[in-house]
Amino acid sequence: MRIKDEHQRYVEYFQRQLVRPGTEEFLGGLKKWFEINRISIADKCLNLDRKDGSHGNRLASAVLAHQDIGDHDSFFSRQIFEPLLAKIIAICTEIGTPPRLPIRFANSPAPEPSPAALPSANEHILFAGPGTFAFCNYWGKVFSTAFYEIGILPKRKRRSVSAISRRLAKCGVVADATRLAIRYAATESLLGFGRIEQHKDLRASRVLLVNSMEAFILAHEVAHFISHEEYPNSSGIPPDSNQKQLELNCDALGFAVCNGYGAQENNPFAFQLIGPVLFFYALRLSDITRSILTGAPIVDSETHPSTDERIRAVLQFLKDAEAGRSVQRNVLDALDVAMIIGSQVQVIMHRLVKGG
Ligand SMILES: [Zn+2]
Repeated sequence: MRIKDEHQRYVEYFQRQLVRPGTEEFLGGLKKWFEINRISIADKCLNLDRKDGSHGNRLASAVLAHQDIGDHDSFFSRQIFEPLLAKIIAICTEIGTPPRLPIRFANSPAPEPSPAALPSANEHILFAGPGTFAFCNYWGKVFSTAFYEIGILPKRKRRSVSAISRRLAKCGVVADATRLAIRYAATESLLGFGRIEQHKDLRASRVLLVNSMEAFILAHEVAHFISHEEYPNSSGIPPDSNQKQLELNCDALGFAVCNGYGAQENNPFAFQLIGPVLFFYALRLSDITRSILTGAPIVDSETHPSTDERIRAVLQFLKDAEAGRSVQRNVLDALDVAMIIGSQVQVIMHRLVKGG
């Protein structure tokens, strides 16, 4: 019991470091909303259950039973990331690179999309939260709607950049992407962005896409823990290597795990690494947007690979892994769609900046 208390104090100490002024209020509101609406949320889960199997039932029980552990816990983060982390660790073990120490999950109250990894000599703690799932969910909406809209074009127009561009502008995807990119450029977060409408029939494909991004993001962090176990005195950086190479190595393990996760969970976006590619592209577009807004060029970090490098690494990974032609084609097609959206966002941004 005392060890548990000690552990919890440690978790809460780090959670307090992750809190940012301004977002605490939003997260507090989310917590209150959950408490007030617990019964009706559980009812909605049960209704889901009547439609599509047993998940709703389990979720309803979880909603009713949830007890926050400490001030910075979150029901939603726990539901999303705790089971996903267990699956990611199991896949690491299957592919022969298991973490030696246990990895605990804790909610992150930080608004940004990247989780925080806290390695130690006894057990590791992975902090992930609404900052991550908000980012993935909003961009998941944009991209899953875009894929759907292109899919319903007449076949001969599906390879035409101008037909795709017109369609994406008309259905509102480009406007949504622009709003997201501006928001992220200004605040480095999509937390509390508000509603983006999406037809409910697209929910299933959005969930798969978001899940594929989250699987990769967690796998990258687990890779950091594994590296840290091997090279504890240099923060996981192997001898004769550097931080940038470490990040690329963690991505590479992340791709392998994401691919295995996709095969296991029947998630084509994870299996084909479309999730990580679109995640990187969304970050890239946000950087470009910030650069247009501020007039400051994008400066490549000395310690971290650029999003461009990370996208190229995905494509190289698929090549090296001898992924089938159709897989490589699909990931390039997804990237093309993202880039068509991105180029239209840039046109709008340039116009906005000139007009202002
Ligand atoms: Zn990293």
